[in-house]
Amino acid sequence: MAETTHDATSGEDTPQGYGYCSWHHRFAGDVRLIDIVEQGTGPGHVHYACAPCRTAYGLVPYADRP
Ligand SMILES: [Zn+2]
Repeated sequence: MAETTHDATSGEDTPQGYGYCSWHHRFAGDVRLIDIVEQGTGPGHVHYACAPCRTAYGLVPYADRP
């Protein structure tokens, strides 16, 4: 996994972080990994949130935590 950067490029070549937002249950751009729920067996669960949901719910991206 590559390090995530805070570069806010407005380029349209590489849609970074496009994925499913677990908070508003739609696909959106600029989603960030919020939580990883480890399970004993199986892949576990990951939750991604888009920018508006991170603001609305006060979510802190996993990579930005101490
Ligand atoms: Zn969202």
